[in-house]
Amino acid sequence: MKRHDKERKKEVNKELIEKAVTMLLEGIGEDPNREGLKETPERIARMFEEICGGMGRTAEEHLSKVFDCENNEMVLEKDIQFYSMCEHHMVPFYGKVHIAYIPDGKVVGLSKLGRTVEVYARRLQLQEQMTAQIADDIMKYLKPKGVIVVCEAEHMCMTMRGVKKPGTKTVSMVTRGCFNDDEALKNTFFRMLEVGK
Ligand code: ZN
Repeated sequence: MKRHDKERKKEVNKELIEKAVTMLLEGIGEDPNREGLKETPERIARMFEEICGGMGRTAEEHLSKVFDCENNEMVLEKDIQFYSMCEHHMVPFYGKVHIAYIPDGKVVGLSKLGRTVEVYARRLQLQEQMTAQIADDIMKYLKPKGVIVVCEAEHMCMTMRGVKKPGTKTVSMVTRGCFNDDEALKNTFFRMLEVGK
């Protein structure tokens, strides 16, 4: 992918989505003109504009506003709720992201970590990839000593179809910087996740 493609905010083509949804309805044997379905293509086009609103974006705008901070102890933002769409089946996967980092003299506003998750959740996605993209953007823009991102999610492609195993959680973890080979630091992170539970 070329650099300018990556950075451009992608606009969804609502007209094309409406056509495709009409064809999908016909394909499954529905009548797209019946009362209940008449506005469905338009509704779905608007919905995709929202749930794919992170496409072509990075978290630069959220993570570039940093504050000086003398405390270089771990900062943890946990239980950040997200909804995303599995790129293999185009059905939702959703759950929580936990992010901790060790500042290197700089911190970001706490809401910015949640916004970073939104950027990467709002597109067709793979959980493992999303976990890494969040960690990489935090390293790139906030430049902490290290970051750990853990994502736990339920995938509807596993619960409503296929193997049909409701309640199954997929957990992914990505570490960067000082978290990579510091077991004690990782253990502190996991103990902090338990606080208040
Ligand atoms: Zn899937």
